[in-house]
Amino acid sequence: MEKREQWEPFTEGMVEVFSGQGKGKTSAALGVALRAAGYGLRTHIVFFMKGDYPYGERKALAYIPYITFASFGHPGFVDPMHVKPEEREEARQALDEARRAISSGDYRLVILDEVNVAVSFGLLDVDEVLRLIEERPQDVELILTGRGAHPEVVNRADLVTEMLDIKHPFERGVPARKGIDY
Ligand code: ATP
Ligand code: MG
Repeated sequence: MEKREQWEPFTEGMVEVFSGQGKGKTSAALGVALRAAGYGLRTHIVFFMKGDYPYGERKALAYIPYITFASFGHPGFVDPMHVKPEEREEARQALDEARRAISSGDYRLVILDEVNVAVSFGLLDVDEVLRLIEERPQDVELILTGRGAHPEVVNRADLVTEMLDIKHPFERGVPARKGIDY
């Protein structure tokens, strides 16, 4: 058996995408951040949508070492047919924050939560996200979450998981539950 002390943290950062219609994309990314924190690897999370929404994870992260975050966007839903200039501006700021975190050398894991949605709603250009991926330092692991991941992002990623919606209580009228869904 290998001794725990002999295990080295990863040296080559991969690009992971969690997409699909089923529940679990953001929670899976948070799970990886928790795992990284166990080895003292720093994570920075950029939340791209619903900035001020009272998500339980954002409250809990204040108590967990090695994980920091910044949130952007507004609590309401973005209408992809009528994108407002301020929504585009929030997404641009989130991307700037992501760029800063990735190039800072301070983090081994950077999570871009709901960035796939920001691209599919036209708040961000996919080329900007691809550039971010290409320009990252070799040892930074990147996780991009959100439904409707762009095919070029999927193509570039090392690991892609699509959450498949088999059933969800929402379909029988159960609204999002505090502590479980947010
Ligand atoms: P979670 O944050 O629970 O891991 P997610 O990141 O996969 O979910 P999103 O696409 O970000 O899900 O959706 C945001 C909200 O919608 C969350 O409250 C989530 O629990 C809920 N949700 C996710 N999948 C479904 C679904 N198939 N039907 C209804 N609600 C869903
Ligand atoms: Mg999510």
